[in-house]
Amino acid sequence: MISDSRLEAIRAEFPILGRELYGRPMTYLDNTATSQTPRRVVDAVVSGYTQTKANVHRGVHTLSQEATGLQEEARRRVAAWIGAESHEEVIFTRGTTEAINLVASSFGGMVLGEGDELILTVMEHHANIVPWQLLQARKGFSIKVVPIDAEGRLDLGAYRSLFSERTRMVSFCHASNVLGTVNPVREMIAEAHRRCVPVLVDGAQAAPHLRIDVRELDADFYAFSAHKMYGPSGIGVLYGKRALLEKMPPYQGGGEMIEHVSFSGTTFAELPFKFEAGTPDFVGIPAIVPAIEFMEEIGLDAIAGHEHALLEHTTERLLAEVPGIRLFGTAPGKCAIISFLIGDHHPYDVGMLLDKLGVEVRTGHHCAQPLMEHLGIEGTVRASFAVYNTIEEADRFVDAVKRVAMILG
Ligand code: PLP
Repeated sequence: MISDSRLEAIRAEFPILGRELYGRPMTYLDNTATSQTPRRVVDAVVSGYTQTKANVHRGVHTLSQEATGLQEEARRRVAAWIGAESHEEVIFTRGTTEAINLVASSFGGMVLGEGDELILTVMEHHANIVPWQLLQARKGFSIKVVPIDAEGRLDLGAYRSLFSERTRMVSFCHASNVLGTVNPVREMIAEAHRRCVPVLVDGAQAAPHLRIDVRELDADFYAFSAHKMYGPSGIGVLYGKRALLEKMPPYQGGGEMIEHVSFSGTTFAELPFKFEAGTPDFVGIPAIVPAIEFMEEIGLDAIAGHEHALLEHTTERLLAEVPGIRLFGTAPGKCAIISFLIGDHHPYDVGMLLDKLGVEVRTGHHCAQPLMEHLGIEGTVRASFAVYNTIEEADRFVDAVKRVAMILG
């Protein structure tokens, strides 16, 4: 675990962690939905508004050039951070959702047609289901779904058997936002590539916890959101292999993404701008850099180790001390996400009572209704840890769950 003094210094960077709720210290355990933001990221946003605000790529004036420089530096830093070959393979989007919609619409539109097949898994977030269904309605391909076992691990035998000569694309999450399962992404990609099938990885839940190396994984596309990794909200990243991105048609049309426009025909800009129509979030994008620096300073291994220790401690205590607790997702090596129910009590009741005790958790289907259907439940209560969480907070959470279990009876 990270030492107490180091953790104190880390927490001091997050003003929001000092809040109280209902007269108690706030315990924020909804990090899967969004993590909190260190002051250095907030400072970068403030500086963007107070020092360098100008639209990018359009001005000869100094301010515009400074803003453009900051944005393009952020692209380089993201590319280096995920191991991309070139910064031109990094496309800024509004989030993971937009990144997946981009791939589904542009690449999926190219490769999926009548009679073809797409493979997804049952643990996908709606963001990695619905964009494909929208395309399916236009193109008429079928979607095959990889099931999970009782611990929440993908059934890799079933995965292999779902491939056919009509499989054109595979898309799955690196880590589940409900079960915490970390999927064997490299092996799954290799399996698809043996059949020349390209793969999109939804990295929304992996990027905050694991070192991502897109070239080592050999991912064709990799998507994630900055707000889940201590960064600004409203910004995401789509990594794509250059050879694929170059072949793909633009996703949206407008300014920034063109080379020349006339009523007789338009030509498009080079990568990555071909996929970045309109004014980007040029204030937020540079603020990804301090978020990456924050994580790099601590180290991804230290982050994962700390969160894992919290997960183990909390899970052990919940199982030992809360009668009737039901955990969903117990795969070895999972992320620090605990999805649970207390007996048959509705997750909203549990979540609302925990809130009154100062503990912020998420309740409901977590945008994974097909997974809920598979588990035969409507929803869960979900507590998830980030690097700034402490063992005291984990204990406060377990004590609060015990109290809620007692109140609900
Ligand atoms: N994929 C997964 C696995 C997620 O957990 C989430 C958000 O919780 C998303 C995609 C969507 O991310 P965003 O809403 O930032 O686009």
